[in-house]
Amino acid sequence: MFETTLAGSLPKPFWLAETDKLWPAWKASGAELEKAKRDATLLWLKEQEDAGLDIVTDGEQSRQHFVHGFLEAVEGIDFEHKVKMGIRDNRYDAMVPVVVGPLKLKGRVHQFEAKIARAHTSRKLKITMPGPMTIVDTIADRHYGDKVTLAMAFAELLNQEARALEKDGVDVIQFDEPAFNVYMSEVTKWGVKALERAARGLKCTTAVHICYGYGIKANLDWKETLGDEWRQYEQIFPALAKSSIKQVSLECIHSHVPPELMQLLKGKDVLVGVIDVASDKVETPQEVAATIGKALKYVPKNRLIACTNCGMAPMRRDIARAKLKALAAGAAIARKRYR
Ligand code: ZN
Repeated sequence: MFETTLAGSLPKPFWLAETDKLWPAWKASGAELEKAKRDATLLWLKEQEDAGLDIVTDGEQSRQHFVHGFLEAVEGIDFEHKVKMGIRDNRYDAMVPVVVGPLKLKGRVHQFEAKIARAHTSRKLKITMPGPMTIVDTIADRHYGDKVTLAMAFAELLNQEARALEKDGVDVIQFDEPAFNVYMSEVTKWGVKALERAARGLKCTTAVHICYGYGIKANLDWKETLGDEWRQYEQIFPALAKSSIKQVSLECIHSHVPPELMQLLKGKDVLVGVIDVASDKVETPQEVAATIGKALKYVPKNRLIACTNCGMAPMRRDIARAKLKALAAGAAIARKRYR
């Protein structure tokens, strides 16, 4: 009961990449960089195990950014001539690569980190990938000419990599879809379909993470405009409840999401965000247990997994570590309290 996990990313050590940044530059290249990525992955596996987490991740130490880490392994994309594009419905501008030809995987995408992690932990292992809708929202297109066709093309590639990850021994494959909270009507029209295509045929646990973004300024400003009650989940959860995806990861603590919306996810495991990633203040285990208690009104005991609201990539390492500890300690309290 009340297994613990994290959304996915963890801060990169200073010797691997620039710190406190969402798009950090690597500190080395070639073989040296590969070694540093391996060391950082091992380090975070140990930290997660020591904190007491049940489902661990590679901390996304081998990718620069959660979307572009996947795109770099895809043929048909021009990274040399990036264009400026407003993403997440123009919440912020980003320099994005351009689709210029038919999409194809150059080879494996996350095998390196999945294999390292699998060889060094016996806990359940989760690997995350960007969802098709979020990818399409983070890239310009000069080839397919249609968003849905492009999303389905990416879904095929994601599926190819996901099946290979399953063979590598990964237990949970999670697709990150922050775009689901931005384009709600498109989610029900094709977003969930594209997601299911990405997860097609998988026998391991499948998950989708839908959040309101990292704790960066553009997101904090955007959240200010969303009003007192954030009801985006209300429009998309019914479609997700009907989908083949097994787990849904969502924001809860310090979020303006009405907690009763969680009951729209009947039949799904719910990864409840009990750790705020937009604040450096470390939650106490008591706070974590109380958030689990609140969520229990809407999520059955055997369906609730304690998680972070979002990734921790841009956070300070010591704070991220302390938050992981609080997460596990809080879930332990909750296990006793809500037995
Ligand atoms: Zn997130």
